[in-house]
Amino acid sequence: MSSQTRHAEIAGAGLAGLATAAALAQRGWSVRVHERGRELRDIGAGIFMWENALRVLEGVGAFDEAVRRAERIESWQLYDERGRLLQSDWMKGGGTRLYTVLRPDLHKALEHAAIEAGVEIVTGSLVAGASPEGELVLESGEVLKADLVVGADGVGSPVRNSVGLNLVVRDLQDGCMRSLIPRLPHDPVDRALEYWNGGRRVGVVPVTPELTYVYTCCPSDDLAGRRRPFDKESWTASFPQLRSVFDRIPDVSRWASFSDVRCHSWVNGRVAVVGDAASAMSPNLGQAACLAMTNGYALALMLEGQSDVRSGLLAWEARQRPVTDATQRYSRLYGRVGTRWPRPFADVRSALVWAAGRSRRWQERVNVAAHKGAQSVRPDGTAAA
Ligand SMILES: Cc1cc2nc3c(=O)[nH]c(=O)nc-3n(C[C@H](O)[C@H](O)[C@H](O)COP(=O)(O)OP(=O)(O)OC[C@H]3O[C@@H](n4cnc5c(N)ncnc54)[C@H](O)[C@@H]3O)c2cc1C
Repeated sequence: MSSQTRHAEIAGAGLAGLATAAALAQRGWSVRVHERGRELRDIGAGIFMWENALRVLEGVGAFDEAVRRAERIESWQLYDERGRLLQSDWMKGGGTRLYTVLRPDLHKALEHAAIEAGVEIVTGSLVAGASPEGELVLESGEVLKADLVVGADGVGSPVRNSVGLNLVVRDLQDGCMRSLIPRLPHDPVDRALEYWNGGRRVGVVPVTPELTYVYTCCPSDDLAGRRRPFDKESWTASFPQLRSVFDRIPDVSRWASFSDVRCHSWVNGRVAVVGDAASAMSPNLGQAACLAMTNGYALALMLEGQSDVRSGLLAWEARQRPVTDATQRYSRLYGRVGTRWPRPFADVRSALVWAAGRSRRWQERVNVAAHKGAQSVRPDGTAAA
């Protein structure tokens, strides 16, 4: 480590780790990322990318590649069990951009940006933990010293646990299956459609010119809802209008359960946690990865003007955390309303959701990450004052 170049060791080459790595390396850091997998990849289907994450992609130079075949979403429509349109511009407005992107495209674009910036990525490298003094400990016993250690190692985060930051890691008792289906002419164009019936929710969203992204969410104890292979009959009984969508869902679709992670702090000494390691949340608002990327990028911006890493990290947490915590709370609330609402009062739910959609202020509060969170990254990728 030279006295000029600061060095960072990062655990995890997911969306959080790669965005953080690229942003740090672009600001003169030497950066090494450790990924336990033998290869870099992201499994999954589509992913919503809101304004805040799009600015990060622009900032690290990954935007064009990430959205090359993605779909720009102009409206998000929500329908209840009686087919009534409850919302037509859900959480948008105020010039907030939204795209749906293929996850592998997004991951590749960030990987390329990181490599271009000079990041070293080591695959098959299993991290065991870290120390607040700035050490990353590998499972092999090797100890790597750094000015900054970042735990971007997901919900289970050995980095977070080893430096005592974890407060709550909770299975939210709901989840979903994600699928990519061949896109047909009658599938939605530049619109995300979400349908609710009881505790079940279905999203039908264009993601590339050839593919439509479908998510089917339900409580974990809805055994037919989470059955693999996908139970077309059971889902068609709940949403008869979507038979043609369900018929195209492949048998390989997998159930993913949702978790919340909350931390005492995101920082201990020279160690910071980011992404699901710090703030996993249900994907109901499509913001968990967006915030992972925004917070990782903001970390690099904050340290740019700070010679003292420890105080820079504390200032970063103080700045970024309120928006993330609020988003996590609203996401949990959305999950409760969408998944746990008592069926006899479904009409009350519809009325409340409809009313919420009429209030611009309420929508901006719920999607504070896209509105206020985007302000921590200017459109030109520099830090806001
Ligand atoms: C069904 C579903 C839909 C979603 N949709 C959206 C959406 O539309 N928009 C959105 O913003 N978010 C969405 N999310 C959330 C999003 O997927 C996550 O927030 C995001 O992927 C987290 O990225 P991460 O890099 O923090 O963690 P991860 O993706 O978990 O990456 C962690 C990386 O660290 C590696 N790793 C773990 N442990 C170690 C170790 N010990 N040593 C070395 N490497 C290690 C892992 O292999 C992995 O590569 C969704 C989530 C789900 C489940």
